[in-house]
Amino acid sequence: MSKVALILAGHGSHISTNTAGVVWGYVDRLRAWGVADEITACFWKEVPAFSHVLDTVVADTVVIVPVFTAQGYFTQTVIPTEMGLDGAVTHKNGKTIYFTPTIGEHPYLETIVQERVTDTVTTYDLHHDDTAVAVIGHGTRRNSRSQDATRHQANLIREQQLVSEVVDVYLDDDPDIPSLYQSTHAKHVIAVPFFLAEGSHVTIDVPEALGISYGDVPSEVNGRNVYYTPPVGTDDAMCRVILELARDTGVFPNIKNTVGVELRSTPTNTIQNNVWDAFPKAGRDTFIQALQNKEALTFGQVMVTDTKVWHTNASSDTTTQPSPEALRGFVRENPFRPLPFSDDLPEEWHVDVVSAEEAYAVVETIYPTLITDWANQKNNSFMTESLEEIGTRQTGMFEDIHVLDEVVIQSAVESVCGRCIRQPSWLTGHDSDIAKLPCKTPCNVWLSTAKKMGDNTK
Ligand code: SF4
Repeated sequence: MSKVALILAGHGSHISTNTAGVVWGYVDRLRAWGVADEITACFWKEVPAFSHVLDTVVADTVVIVPVFTAQGYFTQTVIPTEMGLDGAVTHKNGKTIYFTPTIGEHPYLETIVQERVTDTVTTYDLHHDDTAVAVIGHGTRRNSRSQDATRHQANLIREQQLVSEVVDVYLDDDPDIPSLYQSTHAKHVIAVPFFLAEGSHVTIDVPEALGISYGDVPSEVNGRNVYYTPPVGTDDAMCRVILELARDTGVFPNIKNTVGVELRSTPTNTIQNNVWDAFPKAGRDTFIQALQNKEALTFGQVMVTDTKVWHTNASSDTTTQPSPEALRGFVRENPFRPLPFSDDLPEEWHVDVVSAEEAYAVVETIYPTLITDWANQKNNSFMTESLEEIGTRQTGMFEDIHVLDEVVIQSAVESVCGRCIRQPSWLTGHDSDIAKLPCKTPCNVWLSTAKKMGDNTK
């Protein structure tokens, strides 16, 4: 029977752990539900990259769900370009790839936005005539459809006549957020961020534009009370939305429905799978074989046996991390490490495992995509991407990356790759077979650093 991979595509961030963190949370839950053979995430700013993630799955049917609140530049330009998608269905390299609508377009989001408003009205005993709602979207001047989903939510609240005034405003488009203080006049303003995660937009940028301190509810701005609600994507039920979008592609019969998940039913915490199951599998067999042939393997700062995985410098009395969620939180969040391969992996942890398969899943949690490239290199099927290929593919800020001065490129390699456990094989092309832990394509941290260095020399 055909195998199915489910990939969640998000934005990611270099400064906020939650932007990708919320997406990884969905991945953990969906893996535990056992809804597909392989489940993973990919990002613009973090690892795995959009352009690389398809290499990591072996399934011949792939469903990509964009974890964005609206159609826009990322879903209509960046993701299709980076992943080589033709549209809703792509046939490529022996795979059939389905690209679903965004989770923000699903009707369930209406319920969540409505709940944010009614919960605030009830909690603070607000009255219809002196209450306004502002639904706040990201928006972008680069894509005319980026306001559609936010405007739709505002229209629904308006139709329901829950409050006297409703506006939609945008972080990166007009009407901007401060304009809500002119376009509405009610004493109380319920501000609903139509964002998925408590990332930097929700905790820093939007509060700043509103003139409030994040966490103060209500806040007073020029004599008006602002009630800033949580974003819409933190609900557990978002995993059900993802599953519904995946099912709408028609591959649902191939998706294991082990929990009988019903949208809008009470969220269940039922765990059906081993939490280390349903990881992407490209390279897994090579890893398992290598582990059978050796007592222990080392990948970067991680030591692996088939009973335990740990930091090479860990002391003998570390406590075990019992799940991907706990392990990822420990090595990624405090302090936030946007590049998982940076050589500052926290030391005091270990994971007890019962098989080589689990050991593989632990390494994939710490170093996403690493084993795929390592195994491809071992099997003589590793291919790099040149800077020219990347620059030619890019439509946005990195489209000139391949014409950067050689000195700038080398400086960026020294400053970013110099602190990484991988080697930038993309720079040396077919010399990659000498690289111990090869790197197929420049990560977003390298691209951003090189771009900034290039801009500074102009
Ligand atoms: S581009 Fe450099 S820093 Fe980024 S993952 Fe590759 S080797 Fe590491």
